[in-house]
Amino acid sequence: MKKKLQRTTGLRVKMDNVANACVLSEVWFGESDGVHDLVVVNVSEGIGTGIFVNGRILRGRDGMAGEFGHVQIESDGPLCPCGGTGCWESFASNRAALRYYQEITGKPSPPSFEALVRLAQNGNAFAVQAIDKMSLSLGRGLRMIASALAPTEIVVVGEITNAWYLFGPKIEAEMKHNSLPNPPRLRPSIEANTARLRSAVALVMNDVSL
Ligand SMILES: [Zn+2]
Repeated sequence: MKKKLQRTTGLRVKMDNVANACVLSEVWFGESDGVHDLVVVNVSEGIGTGIFVNGRILRGRDGMAGEFGHVQIESDGPLCPCGGTGCWESFASNRAALRYYQEITGKPSPPSFEALVRLAQNGNAFAVQAIDKMSLSLGRGLRMIASALAPTEIVVVGEITNAWYLFGPKIEAEMKHNSLPNPPRLRPSIEANTARLRSAVALVMNDVSL
């Protein structure tokens, strides 16, 4: 992919996963100036995390660090695209919320996550329940991340940040429930709609500046 893009555009191409790019974006453009320990959680069809510790991205072997989305939460949970079962993302991703709606109502889920959020915004109690379940699972996972990495801040990226008032308070309450002292600050990414795009710019800036 990288080579193909380079050949087609004639430009040098830099690639990284979304979560890592978003971490750099928060460091470069976000409100996290001076924060050296930061985790970005990208919530979409799955969940990816980008970890910024001691002033740099944690990559691990083969760049595979931060796959918290595939930590098993329940051994007999739903099948995950990674081939495992009961991964965190199968309980806390956009996909999970649609499944919850289906389970609660016994009806087909709305056509998209955005449609589910709109239903909740319009006061549909089942959609709200589905979103609450997703938020609870997200909060539990964030507690795990907070305990493991002790970041100063956790920043959430994804469609849920467009309706943060529906998700944020539930996620934060669960993250702080029974947590270790001094839990991290939790906030949605600034400028929800451009977060991922801006992250691509940050990727290049980071490369040039280091
Ligand atoms: Zn998985």
